[in-house]
Amino acid sequence: MSKKTGTIRVEALDEPGRYRVESWSNRKAAHLVDIFALRGNGECSCTDYKTRCFPNWKKNRETQGTESAAKLIRPYLLSGKAKANPNRTICKHIHAANWRYLLDIKPAIYEELHR
Ligand SMILES: [Zn+2]
Repeated sequence: MSKKTGTIRVEALDEPGRYRVESWSNRKAAHLVDIFALRGNGECSCTDYKTRCFPNWKKNRETQGTESAAKLIRPYLLSGKAKANPNRTICKHIHAANWRYLLDIKPAIYEELHR
């Protein structure tokens, strides 16, 4: 993350829904994210995802107990200033990639709605 601007680089890869997301702590490192994996929950290569988010997703998948299914949005995941939900099923990298995807498709959706 850029200390100066507080921004994270999110780079789209060749396959739809796949992104390289800059590490918060090391600007030279990155995590691989697939936002469509696990029925749209998303997957990430980071430690938080593997040790916390994925086990939570596995535990709750029968009840669809994901943050998105519960309609809960946690924008702090991008700023990292508040405490993270211990029941989260997505890490901050998936959160950032979801946001990138939304920003990329919104203009096309707008055009479709206003034809
Ligand atoms: Zn991650």
